[in-house]
Amino acid sequence: MLRLLLWGLAIWLAFKYLVPALRRLTVAQPPSPPVDPGAQETVRCAHCGVFVLRSEAVSEGADFYCSEAHRRAGRS
Ligand SMILES: [Zn+2]
Repeated sequence: MLRLLLWGLAIWLAFKYLVPALRRLTVAQPPSPPVDPGAQETVRCAHCGVFVLRSEAVSEGADFYCSEAHRRAGRS
């Protein structure tokens, strides 16, 4: 009978202390990197392949270029 009580006590202690500890471990995940609100979309120059900010790119039709010179030179 005493053995049964000890087992019950052991199980109760395990649930009281181990389960919350395990729950903390599984919940403690690394925070996801914050999304930079200032991040801008980049586009690829159709001539040389360099990536430039969309706001600074020169566009012609569906193509983007890093500079006016590359826009004149056209697709490579
Ligand atoms: Zn270019």
